[in-house]
Amino acid sequence: MAKKPGHPAGDSTRAVHAGERDHQRSEAITTPIYQTSTFWFEDSEQLMAYQEGRLAREEYGRYGNPTWKAVERKLCALEGAEEAVLFASGMCAATTLFLALLPQGSHLIVTSDCYRRTRQFFRDYLSRMGVETSVIDPSDTHQLADAIRDETELFFTESPTNPYLRVIDTKEAVRVCHARGVKVVVDSTFATPINYKPIDDGADLVIHSATKYLGGHNDLLAGVVAGSAELVGPVRDAVGVLGGITDAHSAWLLLRGLKTLALRVERHNANALRIAHFLEEHPKVKQVWYPMLESHPDHETAKQVLRGGGGVVTFDLDTDLDGAIRFTDACRIPYIAPSFGGVESLVEMPAIMSFWDIEREERLKMGITDTLIRYSCGIEECDDLTADLEQALAAI
Ligand SMILES: *Cc1c(COP(=O)(O)O)cnc(C)c1O
Repeated sequence: MAKKPGHPAGDSTRAVHAGERDHQRSEAITTPIYQTSTFWFEDSEQLMAYQEGRLAREEYGRYGNPTWKAVERKLCALEGAEEAVLFASGMCAATTLFLALLPQGSHLIVTSDCYRRTRQFFRDYLSRMGVETSVIDPSDTHQLADAIRDETELFFTESPTNPYLRVIDTKEAVRVCHARGVKVVVDSTFATPINYKPIDDGADLVIHSATKYLGGHNDLLAGVVAGSAELVGPVRDAVGVLGGITDAHSAWLLLRGLKTLALRVERHNANALRIAHFLEEHPKVKQVWYPMLESHPDHETAKQVLRGGGGVVTFDLDTDLDGAIRFTDACRIPYIAPSFGGVESLVEMPAIMSFWDIEREERLKMGITDTLIRYSCGIEECDDLTADLEQALAAI
């Protein structure tokens, strides 16, 4: 059931069934963890059949493993993609994709407000291959059109972005890019295929840090690239060379996590929307960023493209650094931790966590104030989370 992309079954059905039934070696309901580094051949005739493409099977652990192939099939079914490749982390997915698809001397366009390590990869590594990067505002397709050059290969954007949850009009970006032969890559980590499927709007490739919602339990790191067979093919070849594959056990945890993705994301959406409204009403809160709030700069786009706003709410407190620290330390339910998208709520102050090593002046220019909070709603009872927030805000 629902093994092929485009099958009409709903996301929950796909999330549970897609990708799983092709192993059939033991009739086990769950896909086993194939904890093996290599695969044996019956005889040389079988090996030759494999080499000549007459027999599809595994060969060596860096090129494929049935446990992670089940995850790849499930993710294809969820994103509506032809092919997907799994990686050891989201960063590994992104860096392998760029190394596979950007020729020397080519040009890349990216949006501001994008994951810091991805930006660092452009600045410190791609530049060594003579790849130049232009940075544009997430919602400005005029800037996008102006930034395209003859040698532009890719437009890369997150949607929603981190931490301001800016939402890109993918259809419009695709129209502008495809007219000039530029491919569109969307990091859809914040959206998940439950809230948005970029491929439906014409995106060429989708990336995820599966560490976040796809895994969903704060217990694994993984990444994925999905899209057409034509574009994913070179990325799969590249991971065979660069070696950033995932392991069978993490893949199995991810397979298990994905079965409840639709249920979890519905709860994340509902909790975060209520918390965003609660915070917007609160006198100690200066500003709230959540795509499903009318006050969000991209609310109109968000309403059109997203099924839900996701679990992350970003807000600025009406206090100073010490007050923000008092708030964070007073939170009793969320852990103080980086990351998001798991069943446990997490809270962090970007100023002293993910942007710690950036000079204050530069950080402020990036919009990361001393009092900015990123709250990742888990799947706990919303009343418990708001009561906890209420008492933590009182501690300011
Ligand atoms: C976390 C994250 C990454 C990096 O993923 P890892 O799995 O931590 O390597 C990339 N992009 C976005 C949007 C992320 O949130």
